[in-house]
Amino acid sequence: MVLTYHRVLEHPDPLLPSEPDAARFAAQMAVLAAHCSVLPLPEAVRRLRAGTLPPAAACITFDDGYRNNLHVAAPVLQRYGLPATVFVMQHAVEAGIMWNDLVIEAVRRAPDTVDLSMIGLGSVDLPPPAGRAPIVARVLEAFKYRSLGERWRDAHGLYQQIVAEPAPRLMLDEHELRSLAEAGIEIGGHTVNHPILANLPEDDARREIADGAEWLTRIAGRRPVSFAYPNGRPGRDFNALHMQIAREAGFELAVSTEWSWATRESDPFALPRVSFCASQAARLPWQVIRSCLASYRRRGPSSRG
Ligand SMILES: [Zn+2]
Repeated sequence: MVLTYHRVLEHPDPLLPSEPDAARFAAQMAVLAAHCSVLPLPEAVRRLRAGTLPPAAACITFDDGYRNNLHVAAPVLQRYGLPATVFVMQHAVEAGIMWNDLVIEAVRRAPDTVDLSMIGLGSVDLPPPAGRAPIVARVLEAFKYRSLGERWRDAHGLYQQIVAEPAPRLMLDEHELRSLAEAGIEIGGHTVNHPILANLPEDDARREIADGAEWLTRIAGRRPVSFAYPNGRPGRDFNALHMQIAREAGFELAVSTEWSWATRESDPFALPRVSFCASQAARLPWQVIRSCLASYRRRGPSSRG
C-alpha cells in the first residue's frame, strides 16, 4: 500500500478541506506505526518484486514539494520513526508557489466584492474567507482548459489584480529541500514543470523527466530513484512511453495516482496509490486500517514491523 499526500497543514483550513492538519496526520501515522510495516518506497518495491514484502507493508509519499512537508509532516514522521518520499517539482521550488495555490490564496485574500471578469465570472460578492471553497472550485474550473503556460500567467494576473503584497512561499526552497533530505526523507522526481506528459511531444517529455532528475541530483546531492507522474492517471496523463523514459532516466520505480493497492503484478513503473483523505475515497481510511489489522492478526502480534 502506497499512501499519497500533498501537504500537511499546521491548522485545519476551510479552503483546503481534503488536506489533513498536523493532529489528523499524527493520528494516521500512529495507526500506521502501530499496525503496518512502513518501509522506504525503493526497498518496498524491491521486496515486492522479490516476494519478501512483510504483511501490512505501507509506504508514505508526498507530491509536489510543499514546505510544510519539512516543518509539519517531518517531525511527526520522525516521532514515529516512519520513512517517507517527497516528490519534488523543480519549478515549484523556483517559483515558491504553484498556480492553483496562487488562485486559492488570491480568493482567500480578496475583498468582499471582486472582479473576476478575466475568467468570465464578472463581479462576484464573496462570503467571509472561511466560506469561499465553492468560489475557489469555480475559479479553478475556469482554469481547467487553459495550457500550463496560460494557467501560470492568468493565476499571476489574478493574484496581482486582487492582492497588493507578494505571493506567499508555500513550496520548499533549495535549502529546505536539502534539510528534508538530511532528515532522511527520500527525495523523488516529479518533472520540471508538472506538465501532463501524455500531452507533450516525446522530446519535451524526455526533457521534463530527465532535467528534473538532473536538477534534483544537483540540489539534493544524490540521484533520485523514485518518480511520480504529474497528475498521474495511467493511460490519460502518462503511458508506456513515459514509463520507458522514466526507466531510461535512471529511476527505479514510478508511482501513479490510480486508486489501488500495489501487488506483485503491479508494474514498478506504474505503482498505484491510496489516500487517507481524498474525497473520492472516503471509505479508504477504514479499508486501510482494516487491511493492516487483518494482516497484523494473520501474522501475529509478536512480529510487528
Ligand atoms: Zn504533482
